[in-house]
Amino acid sequence: MGRDLSDFPIQYIKGVGPKRAGLLNRLGIASVRDALYYLPYRYEDRTNIHRISELNFGQTETVQGRVVSLEIIKPRGKNLRLFEMTINDGSGLLKGTWFNQPFMKKNFRIGYEVLLHGVVKRSPYGGIGFQMDNPEYEIVGIADGSGKHDHRTLSQEESLIHMNRIVPVYRVTSGLSVRQIRTILFSVVKTHAKEIHDVIPGEILSRNALPGITESLSQIHFPHDYADIEVLNRGASDFHKRLAFEELFMLELGLAVMQRKSTKEKGYVFNPEGRLLRRLLEMLPFRLTKAQERVFDEIRHDMKRPHPMNRLIQGDVGCGKTIVALMAMMIVSECGYQSALMVPTEILAEQHYLTLYKLFRELGLKTCLLTGSRKDRPLSRIASGEMTVVIGTHALIQEVVTFKKLGLVVIDEQHRFGVIQRALLRKKADSPDVLVMTATPIPRTLSLTLYGDLDCSVIDELPPDRRPTQTLLVHAKQKEQIYRFIRDEITKGRQVYVVYPVIDESEKTDLRSAIIGKNAFEKKFPEFNIRLLHGRMKPSERETIMAAFKKGEVDMLASTTVIEVGVDVPNATLMIIIHAERFGLSQLHQLRGRIGRGFHQSYCILVPYEPCGEDALRRLHVMVQTHDGFRIAEEDLNIRGPGEFYGTRQSGMPDLRIAHIVRDARLLQEARKDAFNLIENDPELEGHARLKKPLESFWAGKIELFKTG
Ligand code: ADP
Ligand code: MG
Repeated sequence: MGRDLSDFPIQYIKGVGPKRAGLLNRLGIASVRDALYYLPYRYEDRTNIHRISELNFGQTETVQGRVVSLEIIKPRGKNLRLFEMTINDGSGLLKGTWFNQPFMKKNFRIGYEVLLHGVVKRSPYGGIGFQMDNPEYEIVGIADGSGKHDHRTLSQEESLIHMNRIVPVYRVTSGLSVRQIRTILFSVVKTHAKEIHDVIPGEILSRNALPGITESLSQIHFPHDYADIEVLNRGASDFHKRLAFEELFMLELGLAVMQRKSTKEKGYVFNPEGRLLRRLLEMLPFRLTKAQERVFDEIRHDMKRPHPMNRLIQGDVGCGKTIVALMAMMIVSECGYQSALMVPTEILAEQHYLTLYKLFRELGLKTCLLTGSRKDRPLSRIASGEMTVVIGTHALIQEVVTFKKLGLVVIDEQHRFGVIQRALLRKKADSPDVLVMTATPIPRTLSLTLYGDLDCSVIDELPPDRRPTQTLLVHAKQKEQIYRFIRDEITKGRQVYVVYPVIDESEKTDLRSAIIGKNAFEKKFPEFNIRLLHGRMKPSERETIMAAFKKGEVDMLASTTVIEVGVDVPNATLMIIIHAERFGLSQLHQLRGRIGRGFHQSYCILVPYEPCGEDALRRLHVMVQTHDGFRIAEEDLNIRGPGEFYGTRQSGMPDLRIAHIVRDARLLQEARKDAFNLIENDPELEGHARLKKPLESFWAGKIELFKTG
């Protein structure tokens, strides 16, 4: 039973053909399998269509009626065109209006029978009374009143598919109406849903009480009349859950394969006497926190094992992750191996280099910098092994870069890198140890997935004597208050960051920019040394400025978010964030993490600009109230959804189309357990041959899970 429908082109389905197949392709539907997995995004209950005269204002409704008028209207004094269509269902009239879409008119004729779906509102002009703005529509019958097609009745099949039932609504593309797609899917589901392979093994289905794939697909596309439409519309039916589970299961299977591959691989054993490590610790002006010690123990334990380390260090900004990574580098260096530190921005690479270079020189280790925009690229000295520690951006993963003996890869601020980059970097050596550091405090369920192939350590303690940064919301109009803060801090010998959303005004917005801002501050404070810092500057310029800022020679940096990650200048105690409403909460949290790193009280001033909505202000208040990165991240997740963390671009993960990583957190945990179990028992999926191909295609373009050929 079951058939591989991914090899069955959609073109050969009755009523499709080459032209429509081309259109379906645009929707991502190439095969019959794709079609089955092309799910409705909402449902309409057409078992009981309300009469227009009985509609309630404010309700979302579907009505059916005959077109009685079609008009393009140009309201006086407004640069706007309205398309208006009035329908009559025998009980009353309802007007649909579409803004600035005059081309809509040619889709209809008087006499057509149509369905409109939208929020019922009171017409502003009185009269008929009922109106829908930008309703979705569906043409039911094309009798045009000419007499020729009059009294056209729906065929029996048509009425079975489109009417008198809970009807699925699909996303369309031009040239293909929702009705046509529904008709195609009806026939695909009817004939082929029973042929599809169930990729989830039976025992996993029954353990999780999930319905089979055939029933699930049939019910999702064409639900029973007694299904709960509200549940369907939330995508929360058991059948939807099953598909979400399937997707999460595929995701976790891939992660399980990757994790297994890397942990079963042979790796280096790093177990030196510890001379370099001791010397490094002696040089530090502080003692490690308990959490740092604990996490380093875990790392050291990993490094001794004959398998590669794959560990994530999570810890809020300022908890001291860098030093833990440096300690790991000492272990590797003492064994005669090289380390690479990969960071997301050139500024961060440069600033790490500035700190590490001297420290390491005293230990007799050579350090170099490798970024995309630097001309001097010490490639041969890296290849010869002369350089013990290489610090760089993703330039490190370019093919021209080769190492003599790369033993450890540290990836800082991981949220900018994905699974893919991690895998590429790992390929630079046989099987180096990998340490990933992130300050993005993400909920556990999410981290399981984003870092699902890694073991996890948490530094859950800040160094002692840190005073939490005070955060204030100061309106842009209260300039004097902002100036006073700046003057006070700089006069006390402290330093200031002012962060802008853009570099210059040319970016076609009316946002305040770093360049204009800097000039204004220079006029106001001629006695202070104010410098500009942004990503478009030459690296050498940037390095000079950062070095001067670190040394305390620069009082104030007007910068863009290039300083967001990692920058560490403990004497900087004031940060002013211009257009704070423009930034996400997690980003504000990162930015704020640049201050409050020393013994002095620090202040973060959030400056929102008009017009700034209630929501934006409410968000900013979260920043005033808490320093807890986890709370902030959760709030961010609530407001913006998981895309911010879980996006293909950032995470390198396959797209999820059905599952929602936050909503389906419990499902994710179950899927993970089952997936990891399965791979543990059958690493090459030899006993699950049917799973292999869908799994590979789920991860296609992301990562190669199994060796081919
Ligand atoms: P993050 O975890 O955000 O990367 P860093 O590693 O940049 O944090 O450390 C933040 C600051 O705290 C640095 O100036 C670092 O030198 C300092 N630091 C790290 N560990 C300790 C400690 N145990 N005690 C005091 N200061 C520390
Ligand atoms: Mg850091």
